[in-house]
Amino acid sequence: MATSANLDATVVYASGGFRRYDEAKIGLLTHGLQYGTGCFEGIRGYWSAAERELFLVQLREHYERLATSAKILLMELPLSTDELIDVTVELCLRNAFETDVYVRPCIFKAAQDVGVRLHDVPSAFAIVPIPFTSYLDKSRGVRACVSSWRRADDTMVPPRAKITGLYVNSALAKSEAVANGYDEAILLSHDGHVSEGSAENIFLARRGVLYTPDPSQNVLEGCTRRAVIEIARDHGVEVVERAIDRGELYAAEEIFFTGTAAGIAYVTSVDQRVVGNGEMGPIARRVAETYERAVVGGEPRYASWLTHVYRRTAATIA
Ligand code: PMP
Repeated sequence: MATSANLDATVVYASGGFRRYDEAKIGLLTHGLQYGTGCFEGIRGYWSAAERELFLVQLREHYERLATSAKILLMELPLSTDELIDVTVELCLRNAFETDVYVRPCIFKAAQDVGVRLHDVPSAFAIVPIPFTSYLDKSRGVRACVSSWRRADDTMVPPRAKITGLYVNSALAKSEAVANGYDEAILLSHDGHVSEGSAENIFLARRGVLYTPDPSQNVLEGCTRRAVIEIARDHGVEVVERAIDRGELYAAEEIFFTGTAAGIAYVTSVDQRVVGNGEMGPIARRVAETYERAVVGGEPRYASWLTHVYRRTAATIA
């Protein structure tokens, strides 16, 4: 995903207030940079030109997950979830976004000294919003491979926390996949079961049932994963969360990734074995169509996932 052409002038939230991106600095010795001791979120906002509205998706879920990640690293968010939602809306307003956006909140160990630890280190918090550009090319499907890198285990660094340092694991897998001519990697856990993509959860369908690794398979408990499970069940599709073997990827009729940045991206092949007929499968299509309508306010049933940036402000002022 490319960053904004005008990143320096973007309004961010840092050091407890709103300022320009180029005014918010961190020092070279910052713990979070040196030791990977930070955690973050990725939140999407979808712009509806027809309604002239920006819909922020699952803000509450993302900020609650951030609070959990922070707790695991012995940090505490400086604001409550409700306050964080307000700040995020205000950030979008101050930037006057009329485009899809990607919001990146982060909290990190901010001391500038040497000595790796979690305790007795102050933390800093920031939110950076940028216009969103596409992450995985969903028009043609994803060619995936099983990575030679294993997903970090909960006994090493807990993957249910979105920890910056943990993304070395994802980056190794992603770059290996791309270097070998694939679009995305599927990581297995230490015990050989399917875990997830480099930055997506994974689902597969077989005989009309949807399967996804359960939370004990070293996955990030994705917000999109949760939304997709809800949509699928609402459509009457059985969803089973359990350990999945590598061979099941080859036997699957459908496979798709889910993630805030990736959306719902279908997989055309795994390790050069075509999935189904190589097209987007019927379950993925139904779920994706509903999800894509939901994130622009077109599915009243899922309205609670959305925060309206402009209408909310109008309502507040009125
Ligand atoms: N797994 C990993 C490792 C990720 O980085 C992401 C992206 N946040 C996901 C899964 C999907 O999570 P979500 O749907 O909350 O974006």
